[in-house]
Amino acid sequence: MKNETKQKHPANTLVILGTGGTIAGRAPLASDNVGYVAGQVGIGDLVAAVPTLNDLALDVEQVVQIDSKDMGFSVWKTLLARVAFHLERPDVTSIVITHGTDTLEETAFFLQTVLRPSKPVVMTCAMRPSTALMPDGPQNLHDAVVVARHTGAQGVVVVCAGSIHSAIDVTKMHTYQVDAFDSGDAGPLGRVEQGEVRLFRNWPTACEAGPFHTVACQQIESVGNLPYVALLTSHADADGNVVRALSSYFLAHPEHPLCGIVVAGTGNGTVHGRLETALCEAQALGIRVVRTSRCARGRVLTHSKQLLSEVSSLSPVKARIALALDLLAESAINEQTNSLPA
Ligand code: ASP
Repeated sequence: MKNETKQKHPANTLVILGTGGTIAGRAPLASDNVGYVAGQVGIGDLVAAVPTLNDLALDVEQVVQIDSKDMGFSVWKTLLARVAFHLERPDVTSIVITHGTDTLEETAFFLQTVLRPSKPVVMTCAMRPSTALMPDGPQNLHDAVVVARHTGAQGVVVVCAGSIHSAIDVTKMHTYQVDAFDSGDAGPLGRVEQGEVRLFRNWPTACEAGPFHTVACQQIESVGNLPYVALLTSHADADGNVVRALSSYFLAHPEHPLCGIVVAGTGNGTVHGRLETALCEAQALGIRVVRTSRCARGRVLTHSKQLLSEVSSLSPVKARIALALDLLAESAINEQTNSLPA
């Protein structure tokens, strides 16, 4: 896609990557905040709409132009490659990514888990389209740049409605309000106030030596898909047959195996007895099963005598990505071990 470079201060370049979303959305009426089409306005135009960015040395690049509800591994792979490329440039100090809000937390988690960048990668978004009477995108983009240029900033963070969230904790909590994100028990990492960052806690952990998951990073480049991990929810009347149907479908398609299941349990990761029995059967077939919780706050605390012992403190959608990356790294290590001379 289109690249634009404005290298006024090439030693201090900020890269802005566009991926679509509501921030780039257009609606037929200015009064319409929901009946819009996401991913319509190019990143160059979004940047041009924020006059405070005029004098900065920017590289602006449209990576994709999608509604983030349709996010998937192929886009992550492309985005990861572009982010990794720009992070390695000595003249680049930070990266800002515009993204749809629907899967923002998943992309942020994916990038932070794989890269743990020592430079800031700041993701931002909007809940209202660019054509709205009061669009929130321009202010969010301005704030994201403030965070990206903040001395000491590092790691993947999300900036929305004046709050800075860590990629690990952030979750979309509201369907249409502009302050749509929350960091649960951890709380936001900080706030952007009148162009200044007020920090409450540390930036996400960095890996100074380059991509954290080097093995996964190399694997990601070479694979077409992440190992498939399904996400199920436990609820009243939950039925184990959904697991059995999944297992048998994937057994019949060995070219695309079911490698893991994350179950969003009730409360402290508890699972309906019928679903639990079926998940134990899946586990016996070699499918990794991880329990997490449907609750927005707290984490799953384990105790003895649990049939499904593997748990995650991440949200269900992030636990799914973590398990897929884990399985990918595991398969890479197994491949390496198998190729060693006996
Ligand atoms: N569906 C849009 C997206 O995720 C929603 C948004 O950006 O607010 O791309």
